[in-house]
Amino acid sequence: MRAHLLIDVPAMAVAISLMPTLGWPPVAGIGCAVSALHTWAVLDPRAALYGPVRWRLPAGSPGVALTFDDGPNPEVTPLVLDRLAAFGCKGTFFVIGEHVRKHPDLIRRMASEGHAIGLHSDRHARSFPFWLPGRMVRDLRANAEAIAQITGAPPPTLFRPPMGIKNPFVGHAATTLHLTTVTWTATGRDGVATTADRAFARLLPALQPRSILVLHDGCEPGRPGDRSTCLAVLDRLLPEMNRRSLPGVVVG
Ligand SMILES: [Zn+2]
Repeated sequence: MRAHLLIDVPAMAVAISLMPTLGWPPVAGIGCAVSALHTWAVLDPRAALYGPVRWRLPAGSPGVALTFDDGPNPEVTPLVLDRLAAFGCKGTFFVIGEHVRKHPDLIRRMASEGHAIGLHSDRHARSFPFWLPGRMVRDLRANAEAIAQITGAPPPTLFRPPMGIKNPFVGHAATTLHLTTVTWTATGRDGVATTADRAFARLLPALQPRSILVLHDGCEPGRPGDRSTCLAVLDRLLPEMNRRSLPGVVVG
């Protein structure tokens, strides 16, 4: 909330100060425009107003990056890894610290099979976007240390904000930790109630070089759910990538 107030309160103050001069309609228009700009910057995966984002792979990349959020999950993640291995694809897993500490074997397997591992916060708190930057930094450090202790490698530098929400504080935390904020080209929205048909249909138009696609192999802590949709989508996506000669690559 604080970060949003940094934008909304000054905008409101400017609007009120202009009201005697301009009257209601232009001020209301300015207010709507500022509000729309802020909403776009927070929610649009391509919006870089609050910090740089990687929503697609660098120019020249021949592949597609399959990314998986909210894991590792003991039921689903091994099956995701099996499917990726069967097609010779690499994926990028944005993992939650709490799950990492419970399932270190899955983190080891991701690392040993050449997949990339990124941060997705330590507990995936719904209130994360409303925290002050210092608390965000502490949370992300805990997330990174949990992974690094298991892999023995340097802490991850890729970061996907919880719920994909960006704001000035999230941007500041990412900059402080020298993290690359990774959003997406398309999301299957398989983490919410949807069918494999719908999720696949959402991803299919983006099945081309440089795309970053989102699926969910896990659930937020304390919010269990069915993640079989992720597997059903992969069973269509991977053969289609194969047919189009699109390699599955990590987010670099
Ligand atoms: Zn998530």
